[in-house]
Amino acid sequence: MVFMVQERVVKTDIGEVVLGTGSTSPRGSGPNRNAAFYTYYRCPNGEIQYRPSDQAHRAMYREEGCESLTQYGSFEWNWISCKNPFNQLFLQGGAKEFPLFQVIEYGWHKNPPKIYNELGSLITVVFPQLEGQDIPDFSCPYCTHGVYTQEGYDNHLKGAHKDELDNERLAEAISKGLSAQQRPRVGKAVVE
Ligand SMILES: [Zn+2]
Repeated sequence: MVFMVQERVVKTDIGEVVLGTGSTSPRGSGPNRNAAFYTYYRCPNGEIQYRPSDQAHRAMYREEGCESLTQYGSFEWNWISCKNPFNQLFLQGGAKEFPLFQVIEYGWHKNPPKIYNELGSLITVVFPQLEGQDIPDFSCPYCTHGVYTQEGYDNHLKGAHKDELDNERLAEAISKGLSAQQRPRVGKAVVE
């Protein structure tokens, strides 16, 4: 006997999207008791995260000051949904929940996610919080890792490119030292 996965998987340019996530099991017969379900939370710093949705986790996150966004439901954590864990939120119009810094951190202000809606049409996720915002570009000069807020950019450079920064500082110090040595002096006047 062949068991089929009941979910409908569609390919997008950002990966595979699963529609109708929920209680489908690999056997296609009733909810999978062992499946982990995730839901969305707003953390105290405003960030939106996806985390386990069971009672125990909910209580724990509440203790941490996280608000669970139950209006967007929960989704089964599987090899498909883990690739695009925010899709369920997007499909239900939850893009507006993200704080601006998170949108920028993910580069969504430049490359908004494209997802298939329930009618099978490819749509671009719109972030209303970006309207009227003039966002400076903090692309990394050393890698293609992404774009950042000023703070994220500073942290990224310090964390990921310490060697490059050290080398640049060294080169700068050497060139300063050289130009100081080579600077000719005429009497008391310094010729630049
Ligand atoms: Zn980088």
